[in-house]
Amino acid sequence: MYKKNEYYNVQFEDLTHDGAGVAKVDGFPIFVQGALPDEKGKIKVIKVKKGFAFGRLMELTEQSKERQDAPCPIYKQCGGCQLQHLSYQGQLDYKQKQVKDVLKRIGKLDLEKVKVHPTLGMEDPWNYRNKAQVPVGEREGGLVAGFYQQRSHEIINMERCLIQQAENDHVVQAVKEICERFGIKAYDEKKHKGWLRHIIVRYGYVSGQMMLVFVTKTSDFPHTKALLQEITSQFSMIRSIVQNVNSKRTNVIFGEETNVLFGSEYIYDKIGDIEFAISARSFYQVNPEQTRVLYDKALEYAELTGEESVIDAYCGIGTISLFLAQKAKQVFGVEIVPEAIEDAKRNAELNGMSNAEFAVGQAEEVIPTWYKEGNKAEVIVVDPPRKGCDEALLQTIIDMKPKRVVYVSCNPSTLARDLHILEQGGFETKEVQPVDMFPHTSHVETVALIELK
Ligand code: SAH
Repeated sequence: MYKKNEYYNVQFEDLTHDGAGVAKVDGFPIFVQGALPDEKGKIKVIKVKKGFAFGRLMELTEQSKERQDAPCPIYKQCGGCQLQHLSYQGQLDYKQKQVKDVLKRIGKLDLEKVKVHPTLGMEDPWNYRNKAQVPVGEREGGLVAGFYQQRSHEIINMERCLIQQAENDHVVQAVKEICERFGIKAYDEKKHKGWLRHIIVRYGYVSGQMMLVFVTKTSDFPHTKALLQEITSQFSMIRSIVQNVNSKRTNVIFGEETNVLFGSEYIYDKIGDIEFAISARSFYQVNPEQTRVLYDKALEYAELTGEESVIDAYCGIGTISLFLAQKAKQVFGVEIVPEAIEDAKRNAELNGMSNAEFAVGQAEEVIPTWYKEGNKAEVIVVDPPRKGCDEALLQTIIDMKPKRVVYVSCNPSTLARDLHILEQGGFETKEVQPVDMFPHTSHVETVALIELK
């Protein structure tokens, strides 16, 4: 077995779900950040656990042909991206393999029968994020805004993030400089003192409208008028400036109180033909170009003819629901966050869609209740958070026997677990499509088509 601080020469065979290289010594895996499959190198063991270990890459003796220099100068410090040292095609292949591996191992699926397609990637996989959310701190009397250094809460200043829409970065930096000129104090999480905690910028990819959010410790706002005047005169695309107050000692970004300081409470954006109003706290996919690809695929898998009743579980602000409503008789969306449901209803109205209804609550409670009341759907779409679907929801799907289930997942492991449950309940997984929503990170998004046997 491994010994801490010892050196080994190893050959890497695989990548973990978080993008670390995997090598084996006497059959035991060791995880090493920065190494790729088909590479050989010298590693130092830094932590030993039962049955596995973590190591540091000291020297590469053989390089993968998929290796590339990470374009971002702060790639190693930041930790936001995990795969910049892998070619983009290599990343897409890795994501497809991740999905295949867990579907086989956890989902017990026969991959001879289930088609797992190559990952749908971006033509230009940079500048894609529509939202920048940066912590603000102080160093040598000035403000810094950027990211937490890996495994610490030290804030590093960042002028440019290569996966971020450049406009977002420009606004964040300009706002930081303006705040500095007005003598604004950054929040200090250790002392629980100071004022400005986070700057958040959201950009409507199609509309070009921008929202700026200040998250502050207290609800006062020094120099409001002059400061906002300065910002809005520099950036005419800013249509909304909002203050969110978070006075708690917490890592959670948003507090409960939100006040509009300038313009509207919303900005608007479009995905395909559908327009969305987005408020400061509602969930909205961060890669608009690929969201379109993802939703088109979900719609294709739903195979709607205009006659179906559809349930969209975990519907957020109704994005997928309204996409489906274009082709369905009726769509029922369920979501746990009340503000998101208010947004969903407004979005239905905004698009003149009268065949979409929305309910607040836990999917695993609301949908079983609907079923007991005699309501059924021919197609069910689920898009749960990382922990996957609740068992009570899966059981109701099994009892309800819809023709088709479309499962949108941001975590292949829980997708695989849930597919296994549905398979045992009389469903069959037909096709699985990974979509690259987060290039250069190890995150994998997937859509699966499941049919009643
Ligand atoms: N389909 C939407 C949102 C997906 S994100 C879109 O594509 O934009 C997952 C959503 O599930 C979040 O909005 C979250 O608030 C919601 N959620 C989390 N747990 C839930 C539960 N138990 N019941 C219903 N919704 C839940």
